[in-house]
Amino acid sequence: MTTSLPNIELPPDLRPSDGRFGSGPSKVRPDAVAALAGVASTYLGTSHRQPTVKNVVRRLREGVAELLDVPDGYEIVLGNGGTTAFWDAAAFGLIERRAQHLSFGEFSSKFAAVTKAAPFLDSPEVIESPPGTHPELEANPEVDAYALPHNETSTGVAMEVRRPAGAEGLMLVDATSAAAGLCVDPTQFDAYYFAPQKGFASDGGLWVAALSPAAVERISAVKASDRWIPTFLDLSVALENSRLDQTYNTPALATLFLMVHQLEWILENGGKEWAASRCDRSADIVYGWADASGYATPFVADKGDRSHVVATIDLAPEVDAATVAKVLRANNIVDTESYRKLGRNQLRIAMFVAIEPDDLATLTGAIDFIAGQIGA
Ligand SMILES: *Cc1c(COP(=O)(O)O)cnc(C)c1O
Repeated sequence: MTTSLPNIELPPDLRPSDGRFGSGPSKVRPDAVAALAGVASTYLGTSHRQPTVKNVVRRLREGVAELLDVPDGYEIVLGNGGTTAFWDAAAFGLIERRAQHLSFGEFSSKFAAVTKAAPFLDSPEVIESPPGTHPELEANPEVDAYALPHNETSTGVAMEVRRPAGAEGLMLVDATSAAAGLCVDPTQFDAYYFAPQKGFASDGGLWVAALSPAAVERISAVKASDRWIPTFLDLSVALENSRLDQTYNTPALATLFLMVHQLEWILENGGKEWAASRCDRSADIVYGWADASGYATPFVADKGDRSHVVATIDLAPEVDAATVAKVLRANNIVDTESYRKLGRNQLRIAMFVAIEPDDLATLTGAIDFIAGQIGA
């Protein structure tokens, strides 16, 4: 491995129109930023308890319900703190005694660690599988909640969201990188939760959850028990505020605006089918390139498990992935590094709906160019 970075300048035709391929935070569309600048003096710096901001929250809630096509009775709830805060809120408010977790990467293992550490819950049942694969849920009458990610962002594995046959517990689905890119049947989840800095091309710090009537009922039942719940993490408080198009405490107004802009952009273009088909096209481009390449290979062996929003691509040992990512960065193409804890000779490439499929094709050409210069 060389210590100094090779000085490789990409030719103009190998430069994507936008160089952001990070899996979170991820590309924010310039149109959305321009629209935010356009309303800045009447929107930013105004009260979140007044109609101007409350209308944006209302559009967010209505837009998410429309995008996910949720049945009547489902509610869209939001609060501050991102997905990580929602894990704590879910441990306090959505799990009665014991959860079952699928754990097959950094994010799914973190939620399992949360419920394991919660002194008011029984130790969870954790079903693991190696990175690059996913385990399956197993109906268990002893658990009252099933926790799984729709897309494990750290490894690039996606799985279908489906209730295990005969299961009665709530389905708690981490959709942080899946929402806005992968299709889901809303009857298969009770909480579909995410943060807006991935598929929704906004900024971090907020969580949003689509909750089924059973989830809403669970929140009231747990609230009525003698469990102490910190107010900031109390989903019944979040629910009350969301019903009024507000949050319990002050939200980031720019984050709300950018998310609504992205949501309405997707809906105007054709909604979830359009978004998913665009991600499918991007996935065809990236995996197709890797499959045909002499030095790049999709990390996820089973084609059906390969995420269409985050691709993980292993490189042959003679092409050092960290060097490739650094050279790309030096050419203003950023955040293609693999997930740090996975420790593989790998690139990780986001294919969220905001990212142009043509830019992904250009990126693969840029990677080939760099690989040709450094070793392949
Ligand atoms: C990014 C991510 C998270 C963490 O989101 P934060 O908003 O940073 O807390 C959790 N789960 C998945 C699947 C993610 O991709």
